[in-house]
Amino acid sequence: MADGYRALPSVDRILSDQRLGTLRQTLSHEALVDLARRELEGARAAIAAGATTASYDSLVEGVLRRAEEEWRPSLRRVINATGVIIHTNIGRAPLSKEAIAAVEMVSRGYSNLEFDLPSGGRGSRHRHVEELLCRLAGAEAAMAVNNNASAVLIGLSALCQGREVVISRGQAVEIGGGFRIPDVMVQSGARLVEVGTTNRTYARDYERSLTESTAALLRVHASNFRVIGFTHQATLEEMVEVADRHGIFVLDDLGSGCLIDPTRFGLVAEPLVQESVAAGAGVACFSGDKLLGGPQAGLLVGKKALIDRIKSHPLARAVRIDKMTLAALSATLLHYLKGEALAKIPVWQMISTTQEALARRAQRWAEEIGPRARVVDGESAIGGGSLPGETLPTKLVAITPAGEGPSVDELARRLRMEDPAILARIDKNALLLDPRTVLPDEDVELLKAVQHVV
Ligand SMILES: *Cc1c(COP(=O)(O)O)cnc(C)c1O
Repeated sequence: MADGYRALPSVDRILSDQRLGTLRQTLSHEALVDLARRELEGARAAIAAGATTASYDSLVEGVLRRAEEEWRPSLRRVINATGVIIHTNIGRAPLSKEAIAAVEMVSRGYSNLEFDLPSGGRGSRHRHVEELLCRLAGAEAAMAVNNNASAVLIGLSALCQGREVVISRGQAVEIGGGFRIPDVMVQSGARLVEVGTTNRTYARDYERSLTESTAALLRVHASNFRVIGFTHQATLEEMVEVADRHGIFVLDDLGSGCLIDPTRFGLVAEPLVQESVAAGAGVACFSGDKLLGGPQAGLLVGKKALIDRIKSHPLARAVRIDKMTLAALSATLLHYLKGEALAKIPVWQMISTTQEALARRAQRWAEEIGPRARVVDGESAIGGGSLPGETLPTKLVAITPAGEGPSVDELARRLRMEDPAILARIDKNALLLDPRTVLPDEDVELLKAVQHVV
C-alpha cells in the first residue's frame, strides 16, 4: 500500500502537464494547486480503500474534469419545450429584448436610480415605475417590491398590524412554496378573522364580522386551484361597499397581475389589475413575473394615503426592489403603455401564437428529427399560479423511442443533461415537445440536442 502512495505523482508534476496549459493561463496558481491536491487526496483515499494507484493520465484528466465541474455556474440555461408557459421552477417569465437591454444598461455602469438629474439632489427609486403603474392600473399611487409575497407582507404589516383582517374561509389558502395566507398574517402582526364557509361567502358574512379593531377586508385570488359546484364568493364591488361604509379598505391579492383580458384567447377570465382599482380596492398587489411577463417583483397599486404608509414602513427597505429588476420592470410596463405587449412580451407572444404558426414549426421540427417524430394535437398550460387548469390547444412533436434503445424516461434525462438543458414532457411512451414555449431563436439548439440524444 505504501508503494501505491509513493507511485502517485507530485502536485507540481501534475500542474506542469501540457494538457493543463489553458487552465494555467486563466486560473490562479493557488486555485490550480487546490484542484490538484484534492484530486490526489481522492486517489489516496481510493488506495486506502484497496484500489490500485490511479494512473498519471487519469489524475491529469481528473484535474481537468474538476475544473470544468466546479467552475461551471450552477445556474444554467434551459430550453422549455414543456408547453407550460409560466413555471416557477424554471424561472417564470422570460424577459423581452427591451427589458434585457434595460438590465444591461443599468448594471453596466451608474444610473439615476435615486438621483434627480435636473436638481442634482436625491430622488426616489419608486419614481421609475410609479407613474407607469398608475397609468396602466388607473391608480393614484404605486410601488414595487421584491416579489408579491413581500407585497402582501408589507401591505398587511404597514396597514393592519395589531388589528383584524377579515378573509373568506375559501381564501385562507396556500399559494405554494410555503406561502400560506394565515402564516403571512401572523408574520405581519395582523389578526386573521375567517368568515363564511369554504365554498360560500357572502357580503353579509364580512359585514357581521366587523369590530372596532378591523383594519381591512382581504381578498386572495384562487391562483392555483378552483372550487366548483355549489359556490359563492362576494364580489370585490360588494366587499368595497361594506368596507367603505365602515371606513376601512379592501386589500386585494390578485396573484398574477393580469393587464390583458385572457378571454380574448379562449381562456377563462382572470381578475384584471385595472378592474380591481376601478372597483375601489384600497391596495391591489400582484407579481411581476407571472402573467405580467416581467422580472420577479411585487407591485402594489391603490390609494395614495395607503401606499404612502407602505412606502415609509421599515420593511420597505428590507423588501426593496433592486435596480436591475426596476429596469426590466419599467421596460415591460412600457410595452403595455405602447400597446405592444402581445408582440413584445414573451409570455403574451406564447399565449397569442396562432395554431398555424405552431403547426408549421412542429412540422419543421418533426421533419428534421426524422422517422421517430410525428406531429400530434395537444394542450399547452398557462401554469405557475395563473389561470389554474387552463390550457390552450397546441401542436406537439411526439418522439417514440426505438424498441431496443433507451426508454422515454432515459431520453428525457439525457435531454436535461444537454447544454442548454432541454425540458420535454412525457406522455405514456412518447417524448413530447411543445413549440409554444420554445423561444423563436432556440430552434437550432433544440434540434441539435434532440438529434444528439434520439
Ligand atoms: C403567486 C402568488 C403570490 C406570491 O407571489 P410571488 O411573486 O411568487 O411572491 C401571492 N399571492 C397569490 C394569490 C399568488 O398567486
